[in-house]
Amino acid sequence: MKPESIKTLDDVAKIPFTVKTDLRDNYPLGILAVPPHRLYCLHASSGTTGKPIVVAYTRRDLECWTRLMGRTFDVAGVRKGDIVQNMYGYGLFTGGLGFHYGARAVGATVVPSSVGNTKRQLMLMKDLRSTVAACTPSYMVYLCEASRAEGYSPRTDFVLKIGLFGAEPWSEEARKRIEDTFGLRAHDCFGMSELYGPGVAIECDQRNGLHVWGDEFLVETINPDTGEVLEPGSEGELVFTMLSREAMPLLRYRTRDLSRVFEEECACGRYHSRIQRIKGRSDDMLIIGGVNIFPSQVEHVLMNVRGLGDQYQIVVSHEELDRLAVKVEAPQGRLNDFELLKKVQTDLFATLGIRTRVELVEEGSLPRLEGKAKRVVDLRPKE
Ligand SMILES: [Zn+2]
Repeated sequence: MKPESIKTLDDVAKIPFTVKTDLRDNYPLGILAVPPHRLYCLHASSGTTGKPIVVAYTRRDLECWTRLMGRTFDVAGVRKGDIVQNMYGYGLFTGGLGFHYGARAVGATVVPSSVGNTKRQLMLMKDLRSTVAACTPSYMVYLCEASRAEGYSPRTDFVLKIGLFGAEPWSEEARKRIEDTFGLRAHDCFGMSELYGPGVAIECDQRNGLHVWGDEFLVETINPDTGEVLEPGSEGELVFTMLSREAMPLLRYRTRDLSRVFEEECACGRYHSRIQRIKGRSDDMLIIGGVNIFPSQVEHVLMNVRGLGDQYQIVVSHEELDRLAVKVEAPQGRLNDFELLKKVQTDLFATLGIRTRVELVEEGSLPRLEGKAKRVVDLRPKE
């Protein structure tokens, strides 16, 4: 394949895909497209096992990422004078610095409080009068509960107006809970380290999908089984090609995320294509007794049942057959509420189509994670 082989957009389909294992196999810097002395900084994915994926940036790449992040903040309505409490992890993870650069690019004041230390986080949020919260949605849902437990009255003690939440899929119900608790407007943002980091796509005020910055990212959807390119509007795996990246210009990078692409102009006036909010990563999809289940579907059901706490865990096991259990927190007085238990069970069955064992557990008993949520425990033996 030569650059001359690509003359029209349709020719892009001739380019082979790049997949995550290509990056792993070339650890740490085997796929650079520039000499190493041109690198300006490095980040790495949060691999829990084995070697991480190292991502590299030239000075120009970093400027481009900063510009895209600045635009991302601008679309969400963040301006000079706003105080951005950045609760994404600072370090090798691209979330912390990515949002940091974006806040500075729009001229806002950034508070690099990073992830964790919830008590101090809430204290700063109140005392510094933070107007923008940036963190993972699961941490913000956790703050809904934690702020009340710490004696705050979220709508009067805090002045948050805007939330920028991403790095993991989250449900509309989680959005409603965050907005109702803090009285802010929550925007979904999408990105991944391989594609600079956060700032690939963001919801505008219409919130009818996330605008993908089309001057930097060419987005396609493909059938994940056959690799065939799908028409706009059909559900498939998102594939991105970066148009100006220097250090690591990934071509047709397979994300494993399932979504749709809409090309029509948005009511906000922007022409950048939109992707539908991510339902789940094809890697996160559980296959239980032959049925496909996304953890977000379980969250959707739980958030709609009144009387439950904020935290839950999905446990998959195998005893002759695959079994699905959901542990969900409930207030002390409702732990033995059989009606509540039955309602959860019935609603889960209606959505998932399989039987689930539901357990109501004491509030505070499920593990609290201050970064990305680990909602699924799969106890099935690995082959
Ligand atoms: Zn729009």
